[in-house]
Amino acid sequence: MGLDKDKEPSGTSPNGNEERSGERGLDFIRQIVADDIRTGKWGGRVATRFPPEPNGYLHIGHAKSICLNYGIAEEFGGQFNLRFDDTNPEKEEQEYVNAIIADVRWLGADWGDRLFYASDYFGRMYEWAVELIRKGRAYVCDLNGDQVREYRGTLTQPGRESPYRNRTSAENLDLFERMRRGEFPDGSRTLRAKIDMAHPNLNLRDPIMYRILHETHHRQGDRWNIYPMYDWAHGFEDSLEGITHSICTLEFENHRPLYDWFLDAVNEGRTDDGSGPWGKKIHHPQQIEFARLSLTYTVMSKRKLLKLVKENFVRGWDDPRMPTISGLRRRGYSPAALRGFAKVIGVNKFHSTVDIALLEHCLREDLNQTSPRVMAVLRPLKVVIDNYPEGQVEELDAINNPEDPSAGTRQVPFSRELYIEQEDFLENPPKKFFRLAPGREVRLRYAYFVTCTDVVKDAGGHVIELHCLYDPATRGGDAPDGRKVKATLHWLSAARARRAEVRLYDNLFTPPDPEAVPEGQEFTANLNPNSLAVLPDCYVEPSVAGARPLTRYQFERLGYFCVDPDSTAERLVFNRTVTLKDTWAKIQQSQPQG
Ligand code: ATP
Ligand code: MG
Repeated sequence: MGLDKDKEPSGTSPNGNEERSGERGLDFIRQIVADDIRTGKWGGRVATRFPPEPNGYLHIGHAKSICLNYGIAEEFGGQFNLRFDDTNPEKEEQEYVNAIIADVRWLGADWGDRLFYASDYFGRMYEWAVELIRKGRAYVCDLNGDQVREYRGTLTQPGRESPYRNRTSAENLDLFERMRRGEFPDGSRTLRAKIDMAHPNLNLRDPIMYRILHETHHRQGDRWNIYPMYDWAHGFEDSLEGITHSICTLEFENHRPLYDWFLDAVNEGRTDDGSGPWGKKIHHPQQIEFARLSLTYTVMSKRKLLKLVKENFVRGWDDPRMPTISGLRRRGYSPAALRGFAKVIGVNKFHSTVDIALLEHCLREDLNQTSPRVMAVLRPLKVVIDNYPEGQVEELDAINNPEDPSAGTRQVPFSRELYIEQEDFLENPPKKFFRLAPGREVRLRYAYFVTCTDVVKDAGGHVIELHCLYDPATRGGDAPDGRKVKATLHWLSAARARRAEVRLYDNLFTPPDPEAVPEGQEFTANLNPNSLAVLPDCYVEPSVAGARPLTRYQFERLGYFCVDPDSTAERLVFNRTVTLKDTWAKIQQSQPQG
């Protein structure tokens, strides 16, 4: 379908995660899962998880991962866990935990009672670390951060062994215990795996398992003075939860040998029946990597999103311009639209950037089916129907959703003074402009044919009011004599319309790749100065006045909009979710199918 802008050959990976073109059109991960079920690899069991680090709000990339992990569990009758990978107390906060729970739930993923925290496993991990020391597979190292880096070597040069590498088991056990108790300052010592300082994969050159950090943990308080590194911790989190398919993004492909090494090292000397010297084997899940989502005009890294929030480039994590799940929700995205998008983009093993037009296309597909239609006027122009009785109000039937007859009809009030959209009138219309102009007749949707008879201007020559005559015989929008008009306009009764603020959004960044900046500049240099336009003097149909925040509508002829949480009974506020124009549908039409 041409989603992948810079497609690279997909290649195969050495450890058996090669992309396979699926039997029943399954993606390569679902194919692995289906094969494993068939061969009984995990006893037919499927267990996946979504393991966010609570150091920021979730973004649409995370939504892809949630849809993938939850989708697989659901489709194959498995279980899905939500697990906080809260191993780094420096950047983690309860606020993020709460926001993540709300976002995952809103997306529709169901973790049942399986909400877990990696920090709850710290005790078990500590015991396994002690076991590795006893097995001669780990040691306490006194090199500082810079030295560790220096000793590691490079891609072309082997590393050097730490002078502390051959400490005795007893000495290591003593030092590690004292690290835990908090006897040493931050950064003064680490626990490292004893693997191979000349290993071609740098991740295996005696990686750090624990570092000293005197920091209060959002959940553990001050119980711990050492914290496990991601690579050491993650496999055990998966193991303890009985995860079968540990799905992560491609950057971790080079870490998979380490994921496996740690689990294998613990399983060394263990047997299935528990008769080995170290007892019973622990569960060893399979790590599988897929390409993370990138979107045009969007930054996705939490560090960058945090910067946008902290430095007030946006109004918060849930600013409707943000690619966060909370921002998209506030913008008016539905969970179904995001799930539909995840389905369309699928999963694969090579990096690509998805056109944001595709996301908006998926959004429109959903909103078109589900959004009630109402009328709103963003830039009002007053119209007086001179032959309509003063003080009269008629309730006219309007269709709520032409895509969904069960949505029924509602009534919209019509009266002598109306608002139409400024851009629907031109005093001197060019050839292809069919909307209102002096002397011209158009249809007012659900109402009457009207003909413009007079134009009122202010001192500066701007049109401020139109006068029209209506044809009472055209009630409901058609002429009994069969005469045709070339345009149908939306409108509101000036007396009954409700004033509203409408916020229009554009891409947060101007260039398609916001990360591409000249030397010495930051990605924020690419922010779009026109990403938000506030229209304070709009009008909406009275029927929407009491709508709850996040209620979605199609404003006829204008686009999809939703009620912003800032909205109150006194001051209605709407966000434009997306325009009606579908550039993705156009791109598709203009491309040969293949
Ligand atoms: P970021 O790189 O944006 O800061 P992260 O990977 O550090 O995100 P985590 O909280 O560790 O964020 O991510 C939780 C899960 O979401 C991980 O399994 C990760 O692989 C997945 N994930 C993160 N970003 C994306 C993305 N852009 N596309 C798909 N999955 C993603
Ligand atoms: Mg991460």
